[in-house]
Amino acid sequence: MSRLYKTLFLVLKRRPLGEADEILSLLSPQRGRFEAAVRGSRRSASPLVGRIEPFTELHGLFARGRSLAHLTQAEIHRARPGLNRDLDRLLSASYLVDLVGGASAPGEPCPELYGLLVQALDGLEIGPVPFLCRWVELRLADLLGYAPQLEVCALCGGRDPAWFSAPSGGTICRGCRCAESPEGTALSPPARAFLRHLRECRMESARRVRLPLQATREVERALQDHLQYHFPQSLRSREVLRSLSGTS
Ligand SMILES: [Zn+2]
Repeated sequence: MSRLYKTLFLVLKRRPLGEADEILSLLSPQRGRFEAAVRGSRRSASPLVGRIEPFTELHGLFARGRSLAHLTQAEIHRARPGLNRDLDRLLSASYLVDLVGGASAPGEPCPELYGLLVQALDGLEIGPVPFLCRWVELRLADLLGYAPQLEVCALCGGRDPAWFSAPSGGTICRGCRCAESPEGTALSPPARAFLRHLRECRMESARRVRLPLQATREVERALQDHLQYHFPQSLRSREVLRSLSGTS
């Protein structure tokens, strides 16, 4: 097996290692989530300075190491400097890489998750997409096989389910909530209709939709409960996003 390999990857995060080196957290469509060390990247003479930024896609040449791969060369495939231009976009992009990166299995190919993440980052870089994070959350749940029931009661099939319960699998009716899941959150008809629309629509449509504040909060709460139930590890940056911006 060759010591060297090439792959396309997206930089999720970077953290310092010693005085001059770094550890990168990366996502590759062929190799899933993985970490790699990069030597000397914090020295100004390094050819990698300015290239290995979060949200940037690169073609890289890696050398296998005993425990970690080493990134030896990298050419930019697509940089996204616009994501650093304002705090809202930076926080949303950070949340999305945490969410999708955290849902990707280490070392396993993930072309669909990778495609979802780069599509969302590209959309975010063009300009604000009010419900982009919600759109990604629903897509992610679909891709991983945890799509919530949104049409009828997930427990009895009854119409007009007015609550959402993650452990029950989605929307539930009042009777089932009392019997099975008293923890469910309220979901008004506009919030329910919006969730169904968001699941079907293209990302570009999520740029144009508007929703009353109350229904917006209900949608956020339902999806947060759903994600927390299925992917508890990936939601730390969402708390930061919510506490700083009061939105998304
Ligand atoms: Zn029911």
